[in-house]
Amino acid sequence: MGLKEYKGEKITVYFDGEICEHAAECVKGLPEVFNVKARPWISLDKVDAKKVVEVIDRCPSRALTYKI
Ligand code: SF4
Repeated sequence: MGLKEYKGEKITVYFDGEICEHAAECVKGLPEVFNVKARPWISLDKVDAKKVVEVIDRCPSRALTYKI
């Protein structure tokens, strides 16, 4: 429970499923990174860290956060 951590080369993403509002900004914004059908559902290998930051900044609930 609580915060889960997803590590990429340049960015680490944290996700708190308990506060996610399922607004889907993340999955709409970057489907190649945020894919609820994949395990793990966040995959940071294929994408520029800057784009990940842009999408995470739109997360309304702050369920997604990051560290560069
Ligand atoms: S953008 Fe934030 S609130 Fe919306 S589904 Fe993604 S993690 Fe949940």
